[in-house]
Amino acid sequence: MSIRELDALKKCYTNCQKCPLATQGRTQVVFGEGCHKAQLMLIGEAPGRDEDNQGRPFIGRAGKLLTKIIQAMKIKREDVYISNIVKCRPPNNRAPLPAERTACTQLILFKEITIIKPQIICTLGATALQALLGCDAKISQYRGIFTSFQNIPVMPTYHPAYLLRNPNTKKFVLEDMKKIAELINK
Ligand code: URA
Repeated sequence: MSIRELDALKKCYTNCQKCPLATQGRTQVVFGEGCHKAQLMLIGEAPGRDEDNQGRPFIGRAGKLLTKIIQAMKIKREDVYISNIVKCRPPNNRAPLPAERTACTQLILFKEITIIKPQIICTLGATALQALLGCDAKISQYRGIFTSFQNIPVMPTYHPAYLLRNPNTKKFVLEDMKKIAELINK
């Protein structure tokens, strides 16, 4: 049962010490959350201050916007699975370093993907896209075009925090979400 596998995975890394972020001020490890049978999995970069405090991904300002974007697709937040490339807050919200990304994706994220087997993955921002594809992909080139990870279609789009800084780019994300909804409903 995937729910048990997810619980076991979380239990295994509740006090993870496998990368330097363990000792750089994190309050707790912030695992993915949502439906264990989700058709859609959204992947961000790393927990921020609110997430680190509350132990849940995407619950701050960017998270509230993400919830609205999901709802705009006529999908409930609890019906998707939301995770991050790294599960611990980097100091001062810096981007996670390559070694941190590699450790956390190998130990946790790729296992979450294997357990949930989503029909579609949506990467939010450059860090998530690059960590999944394993290259220096530019978000401006990849956004809006399906690519794939382990045979799962991946839609790269902008990070909601970027939308908060650049509200005029919201329309692109809504376009990308429309493509995801079309594929889900096919
Ligand atoms: N930004 C992310 O990438 N992930 C979160 O969980 C919150 C903000």
